[in-house]
Amino acid sequence: MRRLVAQWRSEGLTVGLVPTMGGLHLGHKSLVKFASNKCDRVIVSIFINPTQFTEEEDFEIYPQTQDADCVLIKEAGGNAVFIPDISEMYPKGFSTKVSVSGLTNIMCGASRPGHFDGVTQVVTKLLNQASANNVYFGEKDWQQLAIIKRLVSDLDIPTNIVSVPTVRDEFGLALSSRNSYLNSSQLQTAQNLSSVLQKAAYNIAAGGCSSVECDLASKILLNSGIDKIDYIECRNSHSLKLIERTNEDECRIFAAVYIDNVRLIDNHIVV
Ligand code: AMP
Repeated sequence: MRRLVAQWRSEGLTVGLVPTMGGLHLGHKSLVKFASNKCDRVIVSIFINPTQFTEEEDFEIYPQTQDADCVLIKEAGGNAVFIPDISEMYPKGFSTKVSVSGLTNIMCGASRPGHFDGVTQVVTKLLNQASANNVYFGEKDWQQLAIIKRLVSDLDIPTNIVSVPTVRDEFGLALSSRNSYLNSSQLQTAQNLSSVLQKAAYNIAAGGCSSVECDLASKILLNSGIDKIDYIECRNSHSLKLIERTNEDECRIFAAVYIDNVRLIDNHIVV
């Protein structure tokens, strides 16, 4: 990949990277399209990174659909696919950790200890390996995006981080590789999540108290068949600090919920 990118860059071409774990869907496709509209060449990486899964999570069964993924990447305008294996990424003796403090111990970081350290470790490697001009991440994983922006700024990594809006189904459900774990009635339940969050965001924007609106949203979701709420919180979009009432700063409502043992996340801007 280094040789290929060096060749492209020596020809004066701009290079975009889209990191993924595979199981690609239309959300990923939009990232690749977005990248190929802005860059001359686009690489998509597919790597199910073991270091970002906690012990009880779905690493062993994470969807693997490489042939279909390659078709989707080509259709979306991708030029190359990078599929390293685990021993290539973490050879014997590998001992370096990459950790961003502050932003990582709240929301998903609180309930998935070590998850974001795994993310920053693998993203640092991918950014160094690809030396792309731009790297594309989805807004669905907003906390991840905020952490990666911090990482790249703190470590002077010469790559632009570009965010891409969340792609949703007709009911507003954010597309996710993990949606494939849901049966049809669970899918219907999941499809309530976005509209309930949007309603809460609307009420907060209209002057409502965010903790009251978040509690109400939790109750509605639990009544609609969601099995467990991990968190529903209103936070500043950039610092990720908790917000009680809207002020001039941009804020968002963030949620992680469970249907059975499938964890779904989403976020909406409060405007
Ligand atoms: P993943 O394969 O889940 O690690 O996701 C790879 C990239 O795709 C991440 O930057 C995600 O934020 C992004 N992504 C996942 N789902 C969506 C979606 N529904 N809309 C936009 N981007 C997404």
